This record gives sequence, C-alpha cells and structure tokens, in this order.
Amino acid sequence: MQSKKTFDKKPIILMGALNSECGLITDALTDRESFIYGDCKFTEGYLDGYPVVTVMSLMGQVNAAFATTLVIGIYNPKCIIFNGTAGAHDPQLHQGDIILGENIVTTRGYFTPQKAEGEGLGGPDEFEYFGCEMIIEGEDKSVKYFQSDENLLKIAEKIPCHTGKLRRGTVLSGDFWNREIDRLKFYRSSFGSDCEEMEGFPIAQICAKLDCPFLLIRIISNSEYYPEELFDEIFGVKCQEYTIEVMREMIRETV
Ligand code: SAH
Repeated sequence: MQSKKTFDKKPIILMGALNSECGLITDALTDRESFIYGDCKFTEGYLDGYPVVTVMSLMGQVNAAFATTLVIGIYNPKCIIFNGTAGAHDPQLHQGDIILGENIVTTRGYFTPQKAEGEGLGGPDEFEYFGCEMIIEGEDKSVKYFQSDENLLKIAEKIPCHTGKLRRGTVLSGDFWNREIDRLKFYRSSFGSDCEEMEGFPIAQICAKLDCPFLLIRIISNSEYYPEELFDEIFGVKCQEYTIEVMREMIRETV
C-alpha cells in the first residue's frame, strides 16, 4: 500500500474501530481522498491545513495491530491517536466520561495452573499474566503496561470535556466484552483498570516497538453498574467531538 498524497509534514493519524468512532473527523478533513486496503478504510486530508490520515481499523486487537503497523510504515506519522468507546470498570464512571489512557494493560498472555482431568476449569483469578515480550535496550523484558505519550496527554488535558468528567486512567484491552460484575471487579483490583475496550494495547505495543508517540482516548459508552447505561454508538461520535479539539490543539502547538 502507498499513500495517495505527498504530505510536506508528518501527518497526525486518527484511528477508530467503527465509523461512529472516526467518521465525524473524517468528514471534517478538507481535500480528502479515501481508499480501502485490507478492509481498513484510510482517508488522507487536512485539518486546519495540517496533514491528517484517518483510519477505520474495525474492531479487535488483530485489526488494530494490522492498521497500526501499516500506518507507521507508510506515513512515518507525527503521532497516532486512537479514540473510541469503552465499558466502565470504575463504578464512579458514567456514560460520557472520558479516560485518557495513561496506562494500557492486557489480559491477553497468561499461564494457567497445571491441573489433571477432573480438577476443573479455573477462572482468570488463577492465571499468571506474563505481559508481552520486548527487547528494551538490548534486554529481553516482559512488559505488562504501556503508556500514552506524556506530551500528548498534557495537550489533551487542556481541552475541556463537555460530556462528563475527564481524567487519566488505566485501560484494559482485549478481545472480550465482560458483563459479569465479579469479573469487572477482579480486573479492576488486579490491574487497576478504569475501563475496558478491544484495541488500545496492541496499538500501544506497536507504537512502543517503532517509537511512534501514541495517545489513547476512550469515552465511557456502557456501565454494568448502571443497567440503564447500555452501549450506544452516539458516544463514539461525542468522543470524536472532544478528540478533534485535541488534534486542533496539537496542530496549533506544532505550527
Ligand atoms: N456491535 C456491537 C458493539 C460493538 S462495540 C453492538 O452493537 O453491541 C465494540 C467496540 O466498542 C470495540 O471496538 C471496543 O473497543 C469498544 N467497547 C465499548 N464497550 C466495550 C466493552 N464493555 N467491552 C469491550 N469493548 C468495548
């Protein structure tokens, strides 16, 4: 895959899994060109005159990893922002609250205890979570948490959130949708998670491997603690209304 446009500056990449998480920002780009590659939708254009590429990755970790690897290779981006919806782990959070992913953790890699036939299927509270293997300064390490870029977090914190509370937090990321209160509580007490979603961790991991600044922005779209707070795509759109202002601030601070 090749870029369609020749940008004179490193573009900002805005990613979302669903159209409800990146369509509004895509439509705000000027001089835009869209194309599909590997079932991701890429749109190249400009926001306030600055090069931006939006990417609709589809849901899940592998889709997110695929899109991230491509965009870093092709665009050598200034940064990648992923925005979208999440389910609350912190009972204090409500629909419309926004969590900036200061820490991002996954439950993807684990060892189970050894058990003979008939000893039963253990739950996640019996697992040993080992994180993911990375070579850091020549040493083989097991990494459990990645971070959003501190400078990007600081820029995002300057933008007021009109849909609820805004704060930094820990995002748990995996190919699952948990609706059991006991499980939500287990993850929160084990990993310190404020919310859960399906894309942040692999993007953060690939950005760490390839040294690309990353910012994860998640709006709470559902909470099992409040039965009336069921998932609604509209929160993906509301998240973009915040994210586009973060992008504008980044552009102002760059130019
Ligand atoms: N099509 C589904 C909604 C899927 S939303 C439906 O109609 O109900 C799934 C996306 O939202 C994923 O990309 C994930 O990142 C995010 N998401 C929102 N709430 C989530 C939760 N509680 N658990 C996991 N992912 C969640």
